[in-house]
Amino acid sequence: MFVLKYVIEHPWHIIEEGYHPEDNRLYESLMSLGNGHMGHRGNFEEDFTGDSLQGSYAAGVYYPDKTRVGWWKNGYPEYFAKVLNGTNVIGIHVEIDGDTVDLGKIQPENFTRILDMKNGCLDRSFTYNVNGKSFDFKIKRFLSYDMVEVGAISYEITANNNANIKFTPYLNGNVHNEDANYDEFFWENCSQSCDNNMGSITMTTKKTGFTVHAATKSVLRKGSDVIAAPVSIKEDDKYIEHVFETDLKAGENVALFKYFTLVTDRDHDLNDLSVYGEKKLTDAYKAGFEKLYADHTAKWADIWKEADIEIDGDIAAQQGIRFNIYHMKQTYNGEDPRLNIGPKGFTGEKYGGSTYWDTEAYCLPFYLSTSHEQIPRNLLVYRYEHLEKAIENAAKLGLKGALYPMVTMNGEECHNEWEITFEEIHRNAAIAYGIFNYIRYTGESDYLVEYGLDVLLNISRFWADRVNYNPYKDCYMMLGVTGPNEYENNVNNNWYTNLMAAWTLEYSLEALEYVKNSNSKRADEILAKYDFIEDEFTTWKDIIDKIYLPEIEELDVFAQQDGYMDKEQILVSELDPADLPLNQKWSWDKILRSCFIKQADVLQGIFFLNERYDADTKKRNFDFYEPRTVHESSLSPCVYSIIAGEIGYHNKAYELYQRSARLDLDNYNNDTDDGLHITSMAGTWMSVVYGFGGFSTADGVPKFNPFLPTNWNGLNFHMLFRNRLLVVGIDKENVSIKMVSGEPLKN
Ligand code: BGC
Repeated sequence: MFVLKYVIEHPWHIIEEGYHPEDNRLYESLMSLGNGHMGHRGNFEEDFTGDSLQGSYAAGVYYPDKTRVGWWKNGYPEYFAKVLNGTNVIGIHVEIDGDTVDLGKIQPENFTRILDMKNGCLDRSFTYNVNGKSFDFKIKRFLSYDMVEVGAISYEITANNNANIKFTPYLNGNVHNEDANYDEFFWENCSQSCDNNMGSITMTTKKTGFTVHAATKSVLRKGSDVIAAPVSIKEDDKYIEHVFETDLKAGENVALFKYFTLVTDRDHDLNDLSVYGEKKLTDAYKAGFEKLYADHTAKWADIWKEADIEIDGDIAAQQGIRFNIYHMKQTYNGEDPRLNIGPKGFTGEKYGGSTYWDTEAYCLPFYLSTSHEQIPRNLLVYRYEHLEKAIENAAKLGLKGALYPMVTMNGEECHNEWEITFEEIHRNAAIAYGIFNYIRYTGESDYLVEYGLDVLLNISRFWADRVNYNPYKDCYMMLGVTGPNEYENNVNNNWYTNLMAAWTLEYSLEALEYVKNSNSKRADEILAKYDFIEDEFTTWKDIIDKIYLPEIEELDVFAQQDGYMDKEQILVSELDPADLPLNQKWSWDKILRSCFIKQADVLQGIFFLNERYDADTKKRNFDFYEPRTVHESSLSPCVYSIIAGEIGYHNKAYELYQRSARLDLDNYNNDTDDGLHITSMAGTWMSVVYGFGGFSTADGVPKFNPFLPTNWNGLNFHMLFRNRLLVVGIDKENVSIKMVSGEPLKN
C-alpha cells in the first residue's frame, strides 16, 4: 500500500496540510499554475526568506545560454536553450503594523496550500501571529485559461485584533535563472513605468530578442469600500510598486485584488505591445475578479468534460491521474504551432523548456484523445516547420537527410552532451511514428500530402545513410548510438533504433505510394524538391529486408544492443536499496558498465509496434528486461505498465501505474523540487487508457480490452475519437462505451 509522504489524498485537490518549509521547493513544483501561455511555480506572493525557487515563465521565450563543455568538438551545439525566469508578477509585500509578513521568519499556524485541479487555481490559508496579534490569511491565484495573458490574485486578511495593514503589490524584473551556465542576467533594454493607475515593466531577452511586457493594477476592497488609488507609488530599476494601506478593527476583513497581464512580441507587434497589454489589463480589471474566475473555471469545466478519468475505490490513484491530466493541460493548450511541451513545462528550469522526443512518443497520444484534432496536428506541424534545420543538422554531422534535434527550441540542436545530442538518433523515429500515429487515430491521411511526406522521406534518407552494410553478415547495422536507455552510450545495434529505422523506411515508402495515388503532382514536387531518385528507394527496400535486429538466442528475447550480454547480469532486486537512484549514487562509469536500464528500450519498440509481437514474445521480453530496469526516467514505468497489463501481470501493471501517476506527488526519484515530469504525465494517461482500458485502434475503430486493478471498483474515461466524445465505463462485471456527442461510428 502507498505511503502518502507529501500530499493529502483528495480526488480533486493536491493538499499541503501544515507548514513544510524544508520541502517548500517540492510543493512549489507540485502547485505550479499555467495556461499554455504563461506559468508560475507555486511561490508565495508575500516576501519569503525561506528556501524557494522563484519561477515565472512565458511560453516560447527562451535564452540560448552558452554551453558548458570541456573539450570542444566539431558539430557541438553552440548553446543550451534556457526557459527564462521572467518578471515576478505575483509579488505582494505585506506589512502588519509596520512588520513584514514573512513565513520564513514567523511560522504560520493552520497552514494549507491547495492546488484545486477542478478549477485551475491555487488556494492558500494560514493564521499569522505577530506581536501578540493574530490574523487569518486567505489567498487565491489563477492564470486565466479564458484570457491567457491575464492572471489575478485575491489576497484577503481578517484581523482578530486591531491593526494597520499595508499591501504593496509590485512587479520585479530583477530575476535570475538559477541554472544559468555563467551566472548571466538574460534580459536587456529593461524599462518600467508607473502611475496611480497601473505599472509595467518591459524587458527584452539578450540574443533572442523576445520582448515581454508585464503590467499590473490592484484594488483594495474593505466591506463596501473600494479603494482603487494607492497611497503611494514607486519606480526603480526593473521594479514598480503600488502601496495600499488600511486600518482594520478586530473582526474586520480586507482583500487586495491584484490583476496582471503578460504579453510578448511573439504574439503582438512590438510597437503596440505596451498599449495592447495595458488595454488587456484594463479589460481584466473592469471584468473583476469574480467574472474572470467564473470564465476561467468554465474553461476548465470544458476541459474536464473531454479529458476526465474517474477511478472508483482508490483515491490515491484518482488524485494521481487528475494531477497528470491537469498539468498536461496547463502546460500546452495547443493553440500556437510554434510551441511545444517541455519536460518540465512551467514548473522549473531544468531541461530548458525545450522539445524532446517525449512529445511524439508520449504526449501526442494524450492530445489526440483529449483535444480537438487541430491541436495534435499543430504538434506535428511544429516538426514540419523545423525540417530545413533538421536537414542542416544532419549535414553538420556529415550525413544526408534530416536529423531532428534531441533537444530544441527552434529546430536547432541545443543540448550539450554528446551521447544525447549526437547519439540518441532514435528520436528521428519517434517523429516519424508521430505522423503514423496521428493518421491512424484521426484518419486524416491527407496530412501526408500536405506536410507528412516531406518529413518522412528526409528522415528515411538519414537512416539509409546512417546504417552500414556488413557484407560478411549480409545485413545492415547501426553503430555508435544511444538508445532510449541513456544508461549505456555509444553502443552498436540498439535493437529499438534499428527496428524503428527499418519501420520508418517501410512507412515512408507506403506514404509515398499514398501521395502518388492521391496527388501525383504533389508527390513529384516533393521528390524533385529533395532530389529523390528511384535507386534510393531500392536501397531502402534492401535495408528493410536486411536490417540486423540482435537477439539473445538462448533466452529467445531481443538484445538491447550487441554488447548487452557481455555485462554482468544482476537484477535490481539484488541491489542494496541505498544505491538507488543510481544516477544520484553511482559514478557515471559504473552506471555505463552496468546492465541496469534507465527506461523502456526494447519494451518501447514492443509498445510502438505492438501488433507485430505475440503475447509470449512480449512476456519473455518483459520478464527479462523489467527486473533489470531502474525506471530512473519518468518515461519508463508507464510503458512497462501497459505491457504488463497486456500480458496479464495486473498487479505489476498497477504498481507501475502508481509509480508513474504519483512520481512527483510522492517524489519517487527524489527530484520533484526541480520541477515536475510533465511529458511523462501523458504516459500515465496512456497507462490508464491503453493499459487498463486496453485501448487500440488499428483500423479506424476504437477497441477496448480492459481489466480493472483488483482494488478499484470502477474506471470511467472520457476520450475524443474522430470528433466524437466517448465515455468508457468499466466496472467489475461490465464494460460500457457511451457516445456522448458526434455522428455514429461506422466500421
Ligand atoms: C530521458 C529521455 C527524455 C528526457 C526528457 C531523460 O531523462 O532519458 O528519454 O527525453 O529525460 O524527458
